[in-house]
Parts: sequence; structure tokens; C-alpha cells
Amino acid sequence: MTDTHCHLDFMEPDETQAAIEASRDFRAILTIGTNPVRNRKALAIAEANPHIWAAVGLHPTDAHLLSPELEADVRHLAGHPRVRAIGETGLDFYWTHESSDAQYKALDFQYRLAQTLGLPLIFHVRSQDGGRAEVETAAWLMQHRPSRFVLHAFGGHPGLMEVGLELGAYFGFAGPLTYKKNAGLREVAAQLPLSRLLVETDAPFLPPEPHRGRRNHPALSRFTLAKLAEIRGLPVEQMESITDQNAQECFGF
Ligand SMILES: [Zn+2]
Repeated sequence: MTDTHCHLDFMEPDETQAAIEASRDFRAILTIGTNPVRNRKALAIAEANPHIWAAVGLHPTDAHLLSPELEADVRHLAGHPRVRAIGETGLDFYWTHESSDAQYKALDFQYRLAQTLGLPLIFHVRSQDGGRAEVETAAWLMQHRPSRFVLHAFGGHPGLMEVGLELGAYFGFAGPLTYKKNAGLREVAAQLPLSRLLVETDAPFLPPEPHRGRRNHPALSRFTLAKLAEIRGLPVEQMESITDQNAQECFGF
């Protein structure tokens, strides 16, 4: 079992420890840094646990922090052997008041770094409504064509899906795949090539059914995996080995 996207440092220390214990049987977990302080915390957790790896970057909601010093810092951390991805980056027109300009600058920096190091780039794409972030991300992707990237917590936007398929994206599915109202997202998950699917939690956010309303942690990714297996009409064990292999091809763990 693999959780390809979580934030173990967003939890209280004892909660992080419990989450790590509950996921000891996992092949791999990727914990994602979002700013300089959190990048270091994510990396420290990865260094202390053989089954945990880290991504370092700058979240679009922290885009204003971009500076030459920050770039040098992320570049330095990204060379660490426990780092297996850059991000999360992307465009957010939902949570944040960060300017579009700042978000694009942060994205461009992380794109160049990922390309240089041969690491996958992790995208966060979130809109208020109307899909502005999805439309702009699709356009950016067509222009830049990153060699390896993940659309994390993919929401099912048709235009972004089309571009993602054309460019060989990995599509990350989290707890929302299990929510009753998300029939459209399940239809999307039913259509994508099996080789493009990843399972994630985005813990401590987005808990799957039947854990909604509580804090999420990596071990709960099994509920999303089970839903994905059900959607594709495959045994859970087979879906687990498919998504583990996809994660291994994407992140090298
Ligand atoms: Zn995240």
C-alpha cells in the first residue's frame, strides 16, 4: 500500500507518531512540504522512517514567500536522497488571495527544478467555481510539458483530464472519491488508464468515508483504494499492486 500525498507535519507530534505506527505495513508514504519550515519537517520525518519519503516545494497559498533565498533553500533540500518529488505547486483560486503572478512564478521555479533533477512535479489545482485554475493549469501544461507530474486530489475537470492524458500525467485520488455526491468523479476514475492512477489521502484533510468529519491519516487510504477497486471491478489486492507499481514508477520508491 502506498499513500502518495499527505502532510504528516500538519498533525500534532503524537498524532503524527500514531499515524506512522498505523502505516508501518505500507510500502511507501510521501509526505509533502509546503514552505521552508514545513519542507524541513517533512524531510525530518522521512529521515526517521524508512517507509516515508518527502516532497519539497512551495504551495500556491504560500507563493508570496518566493525569493532568491527560498529558491536556494528548496534547491538545496531537493538534492537530499529522501526527496522524491517537487511540490506541491500549482494554481489555487479557492483558498488563497495570493496573486496569480506570484503563483505562476512559484510554479515556474519548481518546474525548472523538477526538470533539472529529473523529479516528478506535484500539482495542486483548486478553483472557487468555473474551473479557472483547471483551465489555466491545462494551458500551462500544454506550453511547458513537464516530463513527469501528478495531478494531486484530481477533481475530474474534463479539459484538465484531456491534457493530463495527452501528457502522461498521474492522477491522484483521495477521500472525495468515496463521497456519495461525487458520482462524476467516480466516472472519471472508471475511464482513466490503470497505469495513471495513484492513491493518496492528503491527510490530515479529505478523510474518506466512513471517516468523514474526523482527521485523516495515511492508513485510511485503504478506503479510497477499495473504492477504486470497486469502480474498476478488480480485486482490492490487484488494485493495490497496480497503484503501488504506478507510485514506484512515478517516485522511484
Ligand atoms: Zn497537499
